[in-house]
Amino acid sequence: MTALVSFVDAMTALVERTQDEPSLLAEGRRHLSQLIDDDRWLPATYRQPRSDRYAQYPLHRDPQGRFSVVSFVWGPGQSTPVHNHTVWGLVGVLLGAESCDEYRWDGHRPVSAGHQHTLVCGQIEAVSPRLGDWHRVSNALADRASISIHVYGADIGLVKRQRLDEHGQLLDFVSGYDTPPS
Ligand code: FE
Repeated sequence: MTALVSFVDAMTALVERTQDEPSLLAEGRRHLSQLIDDDRWLPATYRQPRSDRYAQYPLHRDPQGRFSVVSFVWGPGQSTPVHNHTVWGLVGVLLGAESCDEYRWDGHRPVSAGHQHTLVCGQIEAVSPRLGDWHRVSNALADRASISIHVYGADIGLVKRQRLDEHGQLLDFVSGYDTPPS
């Protein structure tokens, strides 16, 4: 877990130094890139897919709520709903590959931006209300789990945000966190 401790220390120093989103994303990206360069620090319990839906395991929650670090695990065929974040975030792929569908807010609801891209191991993507905050993320691999490490500018499991349900209705939601299996 040494790499995670170093990352948390660096992010703590960063949020203490600045609240400027471009600076947070630029410097946070460099730290996250180092963290996802090698996957050996991530304990086995934080890699376990759930059978019913994707999993989100908290790795660190800043005591002052200024940022959080989460391990997202997608089993084959699993994806998020279309959702937003309301705060800045960085998504870095640790293992496998993820397919990202971007959406834009048309004033009433999120609509597909019409392009999909794949993030492979080692790649990082930023989200925020300023840059584009709506997307849907899926496991791009059919035969194994994909894992990404996310850092957000809040305790993301507690943030009230929005998603589309399976009928395309906009819903408020609070994601919470999953407990890693023991
Ligand atoms: Fe997301």
